[in-house]
Amino acid sequence: MPKTITKDHTLDSVHSNVLLQKKFFHSGQTKPIEFRVKMLENLANLIRSNEEQICEALKLDLNKSKTEAYVTEIGFLLEEIRFTLKNINKWMKPEKVKTAKTHIGSKGYKIAEPYGVTLIIAPWNYPFQLQLAPLIGAIAAGNTAILKPSELTPHTSSLLAKVISEVFDPAFIAVMEGGVETTSHLLEQPFDYIFFTGSVPVGKIVMQKAANRLIPVTLELGGKSPCIVDETADIGLAAKRIAFGKWTNSGQTCIAPDYLYIHKNIQNKFIEELKKVVVDFYGQNPIENEEYPKIVNQRHFNRVRGYLNDGEILFGGQISEEKHKINPTLIKPRDMSVPVMTDEIFGPILPIIEYEHIQDVIDFVTSRPKPLALYIFTTNEKIESVVTNSISFGGGCVNDTLMHIATPYLPFGGVGESGIGSYHGESSFVAFSHYKSVLKQTNRFDLRFRYPNAKNSLKII
Ligand code: NAD
Repeated sequence: MPKTITKDHTLDSVHSNVLLQKKFFHSGQTKPIEFRVKMLENLANLIRSNEEQICEALKLDLNKSKTEAYVTEIGFLLEEIRFTLKNINKWMKPEKVKTAKTHIGSKGYKIAEPYGVTLIIAPWNYPFQLQLAPLIGAIAAGNTAILKPSELTPHTSSLLAKVISEVFDPAFIAVMEGGVETTSHLLEQPFDYIFFTGSVPVGKIVMQKAANRLIPVTLELGGKSPCIVDETADIGLAAKRIAFGKWTNSGQTCIAPDYLYIHKNIQNKFIEELKKVVVDFYGQNPIENEEYPKIVNQRHFNRVRGYLNDGEILFGGQISEEKHKINPTLIKPRDMSVPVMTDEIFGPILPIIEYEHIQDVIDFVTSRPKPLALYIFTTNEKIESVVTNSISFGGGCVNDTLMHIATPYLPFGGVGESGIGSYHGESSFVAFSHYKSVLKQTNRFDLRFRYPNAKNSLKII
């Protein structure tokens, strides 16, 4: 029997944990840089000393290989902590700003202050990384946090609850496991900030609940991310990098290329190349490959399997119900209204559509909700420029996939339906901070003209 989370938290237990954290936050203990640095170091040590257990939990929940677990979850977090520790001193310093001519004599500055008690809700696809990456920003900015992992990855969820409680005081960081009931109780609480990663429909619920209390939110959501291969692309490299982006975690990646637009002149050659790359990466029958991840549960397996009926399968299509696995599949959709072309696929099926004029692709993508990611493979700078400038999207790559998420120098987030706000690197610190603007006025002189009845307004008193 797969492990499940049986216990949801009651409204009372959720509420008392929030009150405990409010008290701790108001004691001021989270604010000094020494505390933040120590807690980030503790988090890094927690990750390092539990590497084996993290890999085991990810294997049980998603059949992730050790390499994939390290690259996309563990290593990613350690690098993010290293970068934060290197820069936190600079980020915390009050920033001096210029003042307007009308404010002569005064000084202006901005102080980053923590919001307070924050809530971080995570999804199941990178269940460890997506829970702790925002936490790095929360700690660095001086907040406390309650973490709500996904109930669909129960091994990772219970490991998180165990290791966090061993290292951190629940008045500072607590994990509250559970499903919709626990999350619903959490969303009734007076948090000072909510950071949500998950689907668009649940993102809307979170935002509505937050609106009741005017709680600021970051929403990291999903959607359909297009990948365009222009006729000038390096076909071999494009095939490798698209296969990497699509079939890492069996397509269960928020920024995976969702569908592919390919220039008609290179379509056949590209398909042949992509087929070869799949065999090279995963063997002749990937579902038999021990390292190839599974679909998270039966419900999602049934959902993704359903997309196999939406067109002509060009390669792949084999499934294992027992293992919850589906081979990397390339499909020519019957038309643009079938579910594989309207739903976020979130699985190893890649629809391919040919095009002749780039404007047709731009028109299609811009007629849909703004995507979280967009990828363009081209060596033609005009095409690169027209695509990156005329389509609104969260972030993306030219001649690659996924890699924009893995650098702390680029903010990561969506736009429109794919999300609100961004994080990673300094953006995480900014997301979890309120910037207080302060004007410090001089007492050396006072301009009479700003006051009522200032007939001789240029007199300086
Ligand atoms: P989800 O929205 O179903 O669940 C996310 C979290 O919300 C979970 O912790 C879950 O317990 C909770 N939740 C679920 N239903 C709820 C409800 N009715 N009320 C309150 N809380 C509820 O998302 P998921 O299936 O876990 O993850 C997949 C989605 O997340 C995809 O759409 C994917 O694109 C998106 N995603 C986005 C990013 C990003 O960084 N933008 C990263 C990963 C996943």
